[in-house]
Amino acid sequence: MPVKPEFKVTLLGAGGVGKSALTLRIISGVFTPTYNPTIEDYYRHDTNIDGVGPCIVEILDTAGTEQFASMRQLYISNGQAFALVYAVDDRASFEEVKEIYQHITESKSPQNISVVLIGNKCDLDDRREVETWEGQEAAKEMCNSQFLETSAKEGTHVFKFFETLVMCLDGRIRSKSK
Ligand code: GDP
Ligand code: MG
Repeated sequence: MPVKPEFKVTLLGAGGVGKSALTLRIISGVFTPTYNPTIEDYYRHDTNIDGVGPCIVEILDTAGTEQFASMRQLYISNGQAFALVYAVDDRASFEEVKEIYQHITESKSPQNISVVLIGNKCDLDDRREVETWEGQEAAKEMCNSQFLETSAKEGTHVFKFFETLVMCLDGRIRSKSK
């Protein structure tokens, strides 16, 4: 049997935006409404992605960021592909992903990273503080990164975001090895 390619995906963003909820949705398909801000976990997910095929994706679900600036630096230097997650009902979390993106570009060149910008909690439309177009604009500045609004709660676009990130990463690796 051929060896499955392995990809590494890191979720970064403010505490409470739904990184763990998105991760659990990807891994187990369910939404758990509990909130434990300290959870930092690493998963090996055996999956099959359109256009990529069977593969293993290592998912690193990181904990809150402010208190863990040095940890964040470590995640960034070890990461290959990043989901920058904010919550559409939390303007501060949107500002924070822009800061995180700055940090990423300080230690990595744009051609060496794959980024997907994620506006999570899109089910909370009535409490929205960040408009869809703002997410789209921000994503344009982030080295053509992709943008999706997701809901871990309702399952909206969760697998699509995951797939997009792995496809970007796979495409980048392939184009380099040419
Ligand atoms: P993290 O700190 O970024 O890992 O955030 P969590 O995944 O722990 O989620 C924080 C809180 O937001 C929890 O109470 C979740 O149930 C809730 N949450 C996460 N994703 C969504 C979502 O898409 N919609 C709604 N309404 N709540 C969500
Ligand atoms: Mg978490």
